Formats: sequence, structure tokens, C-alpha cells
Amino acid sequence: MSIISDSLKRIKPSPTIAVTQKARELRAAGKDVIGLGAGEPDFDTPENIKEAAIQAIKEGDTKYTAVDGTPALKKAIVEKFRRENNLDFTSDQITVGTGGKQVLYNAFMATLNKGDEVIIPAPYWVSYPDMVLLAGGKPKIVKCDEKEGFKLTAKKLQKAISKKTKWLILNSPSNPTGAGYTKNEIEDLAKVLLKNKKIYILSDDIYEHIKYDNFNFFTIAQISKLKDRTLTMNGVSKSYAMTGWRIGYAAGPKDIIKAIGKIQSQSTSNPSSVSQAAAVEALNGVQDFIYERSNAFKERRDFVVKSLNNIKGITCLTPNGAFYVFPSCKGFLNKKTKLKTDTDFVQKLLEKSNVAVVQGSAFGLEGYFRISYATSMENLQKAMERIKSFCESLS
Ligand code: PLP
Repeated sequence: MSIISDSLKRIKPSPTIAVTQKARELRAAGKDVIGLGAGEPDFDTPENIKEAAIQAIKEGDTKYTAVDGTPALKKAIVEKFRRENNLDFTSDQITVGTGGKQVLYNAFMATLNKGDEVIIPAPYWVSYPDMVLLAGGKPKIVKCDEKEGFKLTAKKLQKAISKKTKWLILNSPSNPTGAGYTKNEIEDLAKVLLKNKKIYILSDDIYEHIKYDNFNFFTIAQISKLKDRTLTMNGVSKSYAMTGWRIGYAAGPKDIIKAIGKIQSQSTSNPSSVSQAAAVEALNGVQDFIYERSNAFKERRDFVVKSLNNIKGITCLTPNGAFYVFPSCKGFLNKKTKLKTDTDFVQKLLEKSNVAVVQGSAFGLEGYFRISYATSMENLQKAMERIKSFCESLS
């Protein structure tokens, strides 16, 4: 009999972390690998945030805190929702965890019974299905086509709903495609959800601030009749270049928030006290950083999209948020190239040209690959030249 639990056997390690690790190993072995796999900003955390953390340490802010967040951080989160999303919450509708990842994991553990279904539009962030499986639920994957901008339509949503549907996950702007849902698109989905009154919505807004071309961010809890059925998750990792600090949060119905806190109280307890103090400064301090960095990301996005579309056999949509693009490599999957799948394509690209990207199938949609452009222009220029030469060598 195996020592490993049955529930763990249902899941696999994160493929994006695996690619980053593989690139790291190849680099350590002396290979000149360019890693375009990582899902984190290459910028440093702003100085005012670091200073707040140093101050917290000096003032002895180094003890256990309330399990699901300090009053100061909850207050800052309440104000953030009011200021940026026009949403009113009270502190007991807020929970803080060790990254958005923990908040999502806790939410599924707190709400899913065996066989409950969770609608996950694909391409999706790699962790959703595995978290659902670990919690005993059933991922219901709905493939969203490139011609629909990789976004879920009302028609597809309606078709995916069953008596067992408990959650719908929405992620805008999206990892891995960068696609952001417009207000109209969210309203269309909302019409279906208003008819199906038992379904809860998990809105993952972690890329809210990384957006381009005057894209107007809109989150589904802003539709007042759905607010009571929505858990809105966000965090400081991406917006404030604070991935290592591990602070994520969510706002929503009190019963779910309380249940999430109960799980946290028996697993990790509070997120780091110092990181929470830093997150207060991130949310309350000057916000200029966000807009400056978005401009830098935009320049990279434009360069990458243009370079990719100049390669014969590759097509790439222009995303309006996050720091990913999701080009198609279907043009190279044929007998002549001897590449059958997107996994073959990315493996060959790494082997032959030392560029690490992640296959689309890891995100639930075959025939594509994800590039993270959260790296320097210099790296991106080199990477695009290598991808071009690689593709030319295939045709
Ligand atoms: N949601 C999405 C879509 C993400 O891409 C990530 C990180 O990659 C997270 C949530 C979790 O971020 P964190 O745990 O750093 O807050």
C-alpha cells in the first residue's frame, strides 16, 4: 500500500514551475537559456513598500497576527475595493492569505463536496483544476477559442451548467492569454448566472492593474445582484512586484470568508506579519508605480506580438492585460516537422534554441504556447530572434 494519499494522486506538479526549474538547471549547467516561463514581474518591489517592512520589523511587528489578516490590512483592502472597484465590503467580508494561491485553495477546500462541479474556462491558470481535484471537486473544462479571444461566451457557459455546478471561475486579465473581459462581456455572462441562482463565481482579479490600450477593468461583483454570490480574489504579487512576499486576499460572502479562516487556522495561521505591513503600504501608498510599470510592459507586449506575427507559421493575438501572450504553433505540427503536439514544439525549441516557454496543453488548450514577457527587452529581442530561426529551420 502506498504512503501517498489518493487525493494527491489526482494531481500533478505545476507545469509552469517545472519549466522555470528546467531553465534554471540548464543555466546552471552552463547553457545560455532564456526563460520565458516565469509568471512574475522582473521589477523590484518599490522602495516605500520595502521601507514599511523594515519599519515593521524594527517596531516588533514580528508576532502572530489575527489568522485571516491584521485589522490594518483589512481596512486597506476595504478601501481599495471602494476606491478602485466601487465595491463596499466590511472587514468581516475580507480574508488575507499567503498569496492568492492559498486563498483560492482554501476557498475550494471550504466549499466543495465530492462531485461538485467547477466550470473552468480554458485556457486556464494551471492550478485551478488541480486545486479543485484536491478538494474532491470535478473540474468542468470549457474550451474557449482563439476566434472568441480565448474568452468564455454566454452560450458556452449556459451549456456547461449542470445541477452539480457550484462555482464558475473567471480570470480577467487572464493567465495565460492576457485576455480581459469587457463590461459588456461580463454582463452577458451575468445574464446566464442570474438565471442560475445556485452558482457562485470566483473572480480572480490578480492582474487587474496590468492592462493596456485604455482597457477598462470591470469585475463581476460590480453587478450588484451577483455580489452576494461572488468571491473576488486579488493580491499584491503582480501589481506591486511582490511575488515573494506572499500576500493575497479575497472579499465575499461572510460564511465563505469565515470558512476560509477556519481552514487557515488549522493549517498555516496568519500570513507573515511583516509582509502584511508591507501590503498595507502597497495598497495605501502612492500608486504611480503601477502605471509606470504597465507602460514598460506595454512596450514589451507590442514588440513581442509584432515579432511573433512576423514569423511564418505563427499567429498571435494582441492581449489587453497581464504579461503573457498565447501564440499558436499549429502551423508547425505536421508530418514534415515530425512535431505532433505543442509539447513537442516547446521541447524542441528548448533543446535546439535554448528558449523556455510553456506548452498550451498545460493550460488546457492544445496547439499553442505561452510566453511571459516579464523579462528585459534585451532578453526578449534575443528570444524572438531565436524563435524565428527555430521556426525557419522547421519549414
Ligand atoms: N491567479 C493567477 C491567474 C495567477 O497567475 C497567479 C500567479 O501566478 C495567482 C493567482 C496566485 O498568485 P499569488 O499566489 O502570488 O498571489
